[in-house]
Amino acid sequence: MPKSIWEKNTAMSERNRLEKDIKADICIIGAGMAGILAGYMLQKRGFDVVILEAEHIGSGQTRGTTAKITSQHGLIYSRLYKNFGSAGAWQYASANESAIDAYEQIIHEEHISCDFKRCASYLYTQKSPESLEKEAEAARISGIPARLTKEIELPMDVSAALEFPNQASFHPLKFLYALSENLTVFENSRVVDIHGRSVKTGHGKVWAKYIIFACHFPFVNIPGYYFMRLYQERSYVLALKQAMKLENYYYGIDSDGLSFRSAGNDLLISGGNHRAGAGLSESPYRLHSETAAKLWPDAFTSAHWSAQDCMSPDGIPYIGHFSKKKPNWYVATGFGKWGMSSSMVSAKILSNLISGHGDIQRDIFYPQRELCAEAMTGYLKNGLHTVKDFSKYLIPKHRKVCTHLGCPLTWNPEEETYECPCHGSRFDSEGHLISGPAQKNLHCQ
Ligand SMILES: Cc1cc2nc3c(=O)[nH]c(=O)nc-3n(C[C@H](O)[C@H](O)[C@H](O)COP(=O)(O)OP(=O)(O)OC[C@H]3O[C@@H](n4cnc5c(N)ncnc54)[C@H](O)[C@@H]3O)c2cc1C
Repeated sequence: MPKSIWEKNTAMSERNRLEKDIKADICIIGAGMAGILAGYMLQKRGFDVVILEAEHIGSGQTRGTTAKITSQHGLIYSRLYKNFGSAGAWQYASANESAIDAYEQIIHEEHISCDFKRCASYLYTQKSPESLEKEAEAARISGIPARLTKEIELPMDVSAALEFPNQASFHPLKFLYALSENLTVFENSRVVDIHGRSVKTGHGKVWAKYIIFACHFPFVNIPGYYFMRLYQERSYVLALKQAMKLENYYYGIDSDGLSFRSAGNDLLISGGNHRAGAGLSESPYRLHSETAAKLWPDAFTSAHWSAQDCMSPDGIPYIGHFSKKKPNWYVATGFGKWGMSSSMVSAKILSNLISGHGDIQRDIFYPQRELCAEAMTGYLKNGLHTVKDFSKYLIPKHRKVCTHLGCPLTWNPEEETYECPCHGSRFDSEGHLISGPAQKNLHCQ
């Protein structure tokens, strides 16, 4: 798998595997940004925390992020305002704005060197400015001092750009490795089964009062039913040398829009979003390269990689109780490609809930919230998509099926991986599991 620039310039963590049965107050499944931040906050509150990681710290989707820490999540505020009113939009904005401050505070308190930098975040369009004007208004109602402009650093004309001031960026793996230093993390310890309070790996169990699923896509199907409430979307990143150094970062809202941020001497271009497993008609890397060649003719590619994230039908993460049937299980997922701030939001909510604070039902992130009309449409569309993809199983030519729920897999020639169009699990060309919700290699069926 191609390495991200973060992996290229940091040494991978090495922790022991869980080799015996142990007890803890809290067992967290997954050592990505969500799991490590939750572990850090809960340990600070005096809980005895154990984190189980199938591979290595940060080796999931966090390795592939572009690491912008922002409350500007595409056109989220117009959507939130429409579906949840000003109170819902305000709650989302303040949770994510506080998350940026929380990163800064932790980095300061723990003396973490991770290239943290305050800057502005921009949405931009080359089409009608109307949607950005609406978003500016909704963001202002939500308490964000958003500003419309046409002046941006990128060498392209835009019809409008929307600035959120005082956002941030960092090096995600430098941060994650430093923050996890004092945490008990077992690597190469994939959770294979959970019974009540007992979390089982291949070589040992953790008995815990509370269990947190921070494993990206929850792999337990029932209860919770997250497989019916999430799908995954994949995006592609190109790192360029000799392009330009941006002070701020940019996210294109048009259907072919790209994102840009600088990281050291690299300029990152990302986009080419598609539903995981949906198949590609054109190479996203080639399209990114063509754009780069027009904007910065002297630039050359120093790295490329891809990653994917879980999408919920209303665009809001699921953070809180996993299911009413499992009162001691918690979940943090559905970050919609905004998992840096959302992981911090999760860590705060989960540590409040487990410590006995926090209003569960009124929380906009509550995983068992009722679906608004827009989310219901998304939910039904997702269900139909899954049924359509699943039905291909009846056609004999589709031989490779996912070990999660048996959906037929598609081949992604760009990445040389098998991908599940239903829930987004990935396998390499030899059938080894890359990422879930599937938890088994193809040949283990
Ligand atoms: C191209 C791209 C760019 C992005 N850029 C941004 C950005 O600029 N800003 C932003 O806010 N967000 C961004 N995101 C989103 C962000 O990267 C993710 O939301 C975030 O990294 C998810 O973190 P996580 O901890 O939930 O998941 P992960 O990092 O995937 O961590 C989950 C961990 O759980 C482990 N695991 C899985 N199953 C098991 C098991 N059974 N037992 C034990 N461990 C298990 C996995 O190995 C993994 O390490 C981007 C996403 C993409 C695709």
